[in-house]
Amino acid sequence: MVGAEYDFDVIVIGGGAGGAAFASACASAGKSVLIVERGPRTAGDPQPRGERQTFVEKLPYDDRAIEVNESPLRLFMGGVLGGGTSVYGAAMLRPSREDFTPGRHYGTLLDRSLWEWSVGYEELEPFYDEAEELFQLASNHEDDFGPLERPKCRNNSTLLPLAPINQRLIARSREHGLRPFRLPLAIDTQRCERCSACAGFLCPNGARRSAAAVIQEIVERQRVHVMVNAEVEQLLLDCGGPRTARIEGGVRGVVIRDRRSQSSTTYRAPCYALAAGAIGSPAIALKSGLEGPQVGRNYMMHYSPLAAGVFAKPTGGDESFIKQVGFADFYFGTPDYRRKMGIVQSLPVPGPLMLRKTGMRRWPAGLVGSLRRRLLPLVGIVEDLPDPRNRVFLKESGAIALAHQFSRFDRLRGAFLAKAMRRVLRRAGAVIRLTKQFPSQEHVAHQCGTLRMGADPRSGAVDADCRMFGAPNLFVVDGSVLPTSLGVGPSLTIIANALRVARIACRDA
Ligand SMILES: Cc1cc2nc3c(=O)[nH]c(=O)nc-3n(C[C@H](O)[C@H](O)[C@H](O)COP(=O)(O)OP(=O)(O)OC[C@H]3O[C@@H](n4cnc5c(N)ncnc54)[C@H](O)[C@@H]3O)c2cc1C
Ligand code: SF4
Repeated sequence: MVGAEYDFDVIVIGGGAGGAAFASACASAGKSVLIVERGPRTAGDPQPRGERQTFVEKLPYDDRAIEVNESPLRLFMGGVLGGGTSVYGAAMLRPSREDFTPGRHYGTLLDRSLWEWSVGYEELEPFYDEAEELFQLASNHEDDFGPLERPKCRNNSTLLPLAPINQRLIARSREHGLRPFRLPLAIDTQRCERCSACAGFLCPNGARRSAAAVIQEIVERQRVHVMVNAEVEQLLLDCGGPRTARIEGGVRGVVIRDRRSQSSTTYRAPCYALAAGAIGSPAIALKSGLEGPQVGRNYMMHYSPLAAGVFAKPTGGDESFIKQVGFADFYFGTPDYRRKMGIVQSLPVPGPLMLRKTGMRRWPAGLVGSLRRRLLPLVGIVEDLPDPRNRVFLKESGAIALAHQFSRFDRLRGAFLAKAMRRVLRRAGAVIRLTKQFPSQEHVAHQCGTLRMGADPRSGAVDADCRMFGAPNLFVVDGSVLPTSLGVGPSLTIIANALRVARIACRDA
């Protein structure tokens, strides 16, 4: 219960995947919770859905220009309540158990302290179950997920029917010995309009489950308060002022700026959760003077080669939902390169503007339209490895900056995975196969690693309970804490881990 000197039991910074899950578990444990979200509640009324509004004006995305390798960019990171989940593809996969022991696959490429995560799959397993329930995941119980852990919610009656092109992709791939599966999706079939523009866009009717919906539900039922357009500028540290290695009491307040009035207010709680995303959270930590050898370091985002098959007949992807199929056959390598990689999954067909951006600038509209009608795109998710030189840091002005390069090893695995993806498309009947090694530095969807878990402050920024070293009442519950990037999209793991950490935080409070 809130003491006289506190405004809430818990203050959660960031209303995305990790923040919403953490807040939901704390609220269920009877805590009063404040969620502080930098973005607005929605990106407009009606919600912007057009390709130009979404990918050129980037209305649903974070409105800060962030320097990436010295070029200012507006990044594709969710910037409204719900964070990344307001625009994500809702494909929520459990990783393989082996993702938690990276030393088995990368040995000498990783520091010894990273050979095993501080928390194993067994410890997280019950929270994956909870996370799947919280996000109302649907999956197909007949599918073989290969090395990936199986989803628990096996409610295939709530899966969207397979598009004909995906039926063909699955059948042809099985004939060639592959084990494609239907992507577990957090999408409500009853409400879904099966639009071609899904991942990357705001959902028109809430069919795609988001962190904003989770927050809305707990606000209605529990003692939860949400502030939107409210940016956390700084955490106030208990003693010693900024830049001390150890702060005994931890955080004693949070300075929140109302982005409309520009006024700042301090709120207090005995417990704080940092969930501003793997770029936002280390920036707040650094601004607050919470420094350490791993703070802001080891930024990862997946190396993601793209391959698109052009079919003789229309695929339907230009007018309907086709992001439905996954492959884990190459998780531990392709036939010609036996190194750990990650999954392959289908993608929506890009709109005309995005296609033009990929080199078809001068193509007549009719030709672009004809190509779109015949496309089936796939994306590979290559588990990029942590490198301390890839980092989030603050410029002298206080602005956030990123330094990031993929390693030769990441690119090499990406090239082999792209080759395997082309083969899959050829076997499915694609007459032409196009590839692009990597979308761009703007596509930071799977950002993680910048406040990673570790045994001590030398190897991590937070401990196994995701408690910040040097600030015992501050938990980090977003993608920042992942020590390695996994071979699947990170959202389910972020949510499961946030639920686990909430249990610890509530027990201690
Ligand atoms: C286009 C797209 C498609 C994706 N598809 C998938 C998919 O299919 N499967 C999958 O697993 N993952 C997918 N992802 C990734 C997934 O959405 C993210 O991994 C996940 O949302 C990250 O959760 P998080 O809690 O770390 O951060 P976020 O969900 O990004 O939440 C961070 C929140 O903090 C807020 N914030 C930032 N700074 C401050 C501040 N100073 N004060 C207050 N609030 C602040 C942000 O506005 C944001 O709302 C996709 C992402 C994108 C962008
Ligand atoms: S396809 Fe369904 S889940 Fe996706 S944006 Fe459209 S209505 Fe929402």
